Amino acid sequence: MKASKMLISTLKEAPQEAKIDSHILLLRSGMVKAQVAGVYQFLPLGLRVLHKIENIIREEMDASGAIEILCSALQPKELWVESGRWSKYGPELMRLSDRHEREFCLGPTHEEVFTALIRDLVKSSKNLPLNVYQIQTKYRDERRPRFGLMRGREFLMKDAYSFDKDEEGLNQSYQIMYDTYSKIFTRLGLHYQVVLADTGNIGGNGSHQFMALSDVGESEIVYCDACGYAADVEKATAKPISVEKEKALPIEKVHTPNQRTIEEISSYLNVDAKKTAKTLIYHDYVNEKLVAVVVRGDREVNEIKLVNALNSNENFLELANDTEIESLHSIHGFVGPIDLPCEVYVDEEVIELSNFVIGANEKDYHYKNVNYGRDFTGVVCDLRKNVAGDLCPICGKPMGQERGIEVGQIFKLQTKYSEPMNCCYVNELGKNVPMAMGCYGIGVSRTLQSIVEQYHDEAGIVWPMAVAPYHAVIVPINYNDIEQQSLSDEIYQSLLGQVEVVLDDRNAKPGFKFKDWELIGIPYMIICGKRSKEGFVEFKNRRTMEKQELPKEEAIRILLQAVKNI
Ligand code: ATP
Ligand code: MG
Repeated sequence: MKASKMLISTLKEAPQEAKIDSHILLLRSGMVKAQVAGVYQFLPLGLRVLHKIENIIREEMDASGAIEILCSALQPKELWVESGRWSKYGPELMRLSDRHEREFCLGPTHEEVFTALIRDLVKSSKNLPLNVYQIQTKYRDERRPRFGLMRGREFLMKDAYSFDKDEEGLNQSYQIMYDTYSKIFTRLGLHYQVVLADTGNIGGNGSHQFMALSDVGESEIVYCDACGYAADVEKATAKPISVEKEKALPIEKVHTPNQRTIEEISSYLNVDAKKTAKTLIYHDYVNEKLVAVVVRGDREVNEIKLVNALNSNENFLELANDTEIESLHSIHGFVGPIDLPCEVYVDEEVIELSNFVIGANEKDYHYKNVNYGRDFTGVVCDLRKNVAGDLCPICGKPMGQERGIEVGQIFKLQTKYSEPMNCCYVNELGKNVPMAMGCYGIGVSRTLQSIVEQYHDEAGIVWPMAVAPYHAVIVPINYNDIEQQSLSDEIYQSLLGQVEVVLDDRNAKPGFKFKDWELIGIPYMIICGKRSKEGFVEFKNRRTMEKQELPKEEAIRILLQAVKNI
């Protein structure tokens, strides 16, 4: 490819909205261009990378025995009513209607569509197991689209759905996908960790997420180096730390003027935050009720655990507003569980405490020397967010914490969709049995940006060979110089067909051209300069930035080898 024909659109400065390196670099290198918030267009270089990622995914999915199809993005409401999700999915679902006022959505995911398809196509258990996948654009009206391709409102996903006769079959299909995902992310060069993930109301340990490790990741992971346990914080559990109970002292109401937060209270009363408890009121819109949640003062509520405990839905759970809190005869900043006229959910760590401080449901007052069981009770369960230092639930050693970008998730759905949607096979007894399903997603566009997040330096992107838009670029210092031009053309011609190569034939300063290719992140650069007449080039490695002077044949040989090694 000749650079003059490539629609290269590098930028000196990144647009304002870009906050993280990978987003800045994708925009600056001209891989993508923003349309509106959370919606991007792929330019030629970015599209080449996207296709390479897709192809690696496709090769491994095909090798696993999965079959590729392509469903419509436009999905009829009726399917979502059948599964029960039309009313549950919340504002993320992009809904629309046609000229006849028939309602549709733009698919955020395709469980309904695939379940309906297989219900129509497969009747006999002879066709099972079956794993069907597609690579397709998804739509989610995210509350906070941000970080470029990381959280888009329109994005590319590979989604697969497996159909088995029974749970044993599902477990096998799931394991095949687990292994396939590991191969895919390894081939893509990502540093990743597989973690246990929340399964919502399906329960069990039936989901894993694949996390690209990165400080800018929106997911938090806790992990144990000793035994290998690793989980998304949404899912993570920990052994409660048992403390010796103190003798219960008489409860006491204390004046705490304007002391609302845990920091304020603990410093005002001179008690450790670990000897306080905080009470949050939530509005559960699914069950239409207000509930109180009590966790230790230094802890955060894990809303996913709360949703599971309440059998609610994360899109339909919000912190209560001041008026709602007042309807419980309490007041913001001084809420406590004692005599509160609503259900109280208590984190299991709180019942280990003795003589702690808690809000008194009265402006400027708290209680001291509170003890669970004597002063209040509630539904006790695990509701806290785990952090570094908490004890591993398996082996009891202190855990570490890191951040990750969720690039993929696999999930045992069991019969969650096949049962209500009647996706059945007929067994030996002639009975209709719902298929055991799994679903498996990879965020293709998010993966692309995650690679940039892990592979970049001050000069720009450093693509791994497996996904680089081109393997090499030939840069003549001055393309108008006859000798440089003829050597560049000669090398270009000899590489074509074997190496994905660009010839930078632009009439521009060499410094400008070098900067462009370093920003774009092409792994190898062949520079034709002063010694062109002798057949010598400078050969530059983008990753190490090392340059060596080599005869053209040697540069070509190294390149061919590098391509062979992908
Ligand atoms: P998240 O928790 O990040 O919102 P999710 O768990 O809702 O993601 P899934 O339904 O599991 O996402 O979708 C499968 C994959 O699609 C995810 O693992 C992720 O890589 C990708 N993905 C999900 N939402 C987005 C988005 N808004 N933009 C880009 N990729 C996304
Ligand atoms: Mg997910």
